[in-house]
Order: sequence, then structure tokens, then C-alpha cells
Amino acid sequence: MKKTPILIIGSIALDTIETPKGNRSNLLGGSATYAMIAAKNKASVHISAVVGKDFPKQGHSVYEQYSDDLTDFITEDGPTFRWGGRYHENMDQRDTLFTELGVFQNFNPRLSELNRRVPYVFLANIHPQLQLSVIQQMENNPTVIVDTMNLWIETTKNDLLQVLKRTDILLINDSESELLTGDTDLQSSAEKIQAIGPKIVIIKRGSKGAAIFDGKDTFSVGVYPVSEIVDTTGAGDTFGGGFVASLAKGESLSDAVIYGSALASICVEGFGVERILKACDKDVEIRTEYLHQTG
Ligand code: AMP
Repeated sequence: MKKTPILIIGSIALDTIETPKGNRSNLLGGSATYAMIAAKNKASVHISAVVGKDFPKQGHSVYEQYSDDLTDFITEDGPTFRWGGRYHENMDQRDTLFTELGVFQNFNPRLSELNRRVPYVFLANIHPQLQLSVIQQMENNPTVIVDTMNLWIETTKNDLLQVLKRTDILLINDSESELLTGDTDLQSSAEKIQAIGPKIVIIKRGSKGAAIFDGKDTFSVGVYPVSEIVDTTGAGDTFGGGFVASLAKGESLSDAVIYGSALASICVEGFGVERILKACDKDVEIRTEYLHQTG
């Protein structure tokens, strides 16, 4: 069966990560990278993103292998975006050590004719002005799925609100939804977000799973019990990529959340993308099955 195209826009990064399980530098990362790898099996993945001339060959070959359209993947003069993070003992919290924008600084996505017509757009974590620019270029009224982070809520809230007005589905952490609405109660926080624009709000709750608000019902999905968490970087982006690809394949909202959660549980078992690059169908199947049964 032909896979439905999805357009992913997000960051491509070289990450330096310190967790209680060890340190790594210059790992292939960024929100677009995790989302692309997670989406590969269920959708035809189109990418809009930028790297510098220093982006390693190995990174280029991951993009060549996991995406189906790189027309809007740009290589610019200058350094690739770099991000460093240090995790606390519980791995739920982290401090950003540095953010070096590099070629991101002047990134202005111009979509190809083909990408303007893709039916699903995943605006992974990236500056809301870039997310808005992509929405404005889209034709044929695609389904718009958005992820964000506390940084944008704190520093560019007005831009983010413009994005939310044109969003169909928002993926957000519990602490971020509280920051955005000032409401600690999940249900009323979700309702406040729905009043801005998104019909569906999915609140990610870390080790407590995810809560889904679709305007009619509220339901939740648990987490797969991972034996050793090594690095939680990119878990949210992996969730998002898997979720969007599943929706694009025509699967239900709850199946899509379960699929994203299963992939995220694999992501946290290794540093960076190492574990999800090696995930096999069986790994994913065992975890989706578990999540279906435990509801
Ligand atoms: P997550 O753990 O889901 O928040 O995603 C982590 C990924 O987001 C890392 O690979 C980073 O390179 C990337 N990242 C961190 N900060 C930013 C930022 N300000 N804009 C875009 N991507 C970022």
C-alpha cells in the first residue's frame, strides 16, 4: 500500500548529552531527526530543515535512508545547530548547557510545490515563527500537528499563539501546558488550549503516560515499563513522529498515541538515536500490545 506523505519540519542538531548513565558528544539529534526515524515505517517522510557544511556524512546517510523526500533539506555555509543538556538523577529534569543556533539563525524554510500539498504536517519543536511560516505556505488545508517547548512559551508566546490558532492537534508536556494556561488541572488546561485553536490536545505526562482530549472524550494511555532508562533526549519528538505517521496511515487517535508511546519507550533505552535506529518490528509490536492491554 502506498504510504501517505507527511512533512516534518524541525531541528537537526549535533547534541552533547550528560546523563547519570554516561556522557556523549556530537550525537546526531534534533527534533526532526527523532521524528523522521519514528515515522519511517508508517508514512512517506518529507523533510524541511537545515544543516551546516560540517554536518557529518553519517548524519546525511541517516537522512537519505529514513526520508523519502529531501528537496527542502538545505545545507548552508556555517555550523550545524548544536545543543547540550545535562540530566538530573531522576532523568525527568534536565538543564540546557548550551544552544548554538549556527545555520538555524537565518533559516527561512521555502517549501517546494510538492511539499506545500502534503496532507499532514508535523511542526516539531522549533521556533514558532518558522512553524508559522510553514503553515502559511501550505495549500489544501492539511492536518497540522504541533509540538513545542517551555522556551517558546516563555520567550515567544505571541508567536506560539498565532501557530496554535492554526493547529489541529497539539502535543505538549504537562508542565508546558501549565506554563501556557496557568492551570494545573489537566482537563481545564486542555480546554483552555482548545479555546485557542487545536481541536485535539495530547498532554504528555512522562512516566505517567499521556492524556488525550478530543473535545468529546478524555482518555489516557500508560507507559511501557522500560528496565533501564539511559537518555530521555528526543522521547517527545519520537512520540510525535510515530503518532503523526500512524494517524496518516488512517489509524485511530488512541492507536496513534499507543504507537508513539511504544517508540518513545524504545528511544530512552539508548543515547541519542542509537536505539531507535536499531528497533525492529517485533520490539514495537510487543510494546504496542502491552499498551493496548494495560490501556
Ligand atoms: P526533547 O528531548 O524531545 O525535548 O528533544 C531534544 C532534541 O531537541 C535535541 O536533539 C535537541 O537538539 C533539540 N533541541 C533542543 N533545544 C532546541 C531548540 N531550542 N530548538 C530546536 N530544537 C531543540
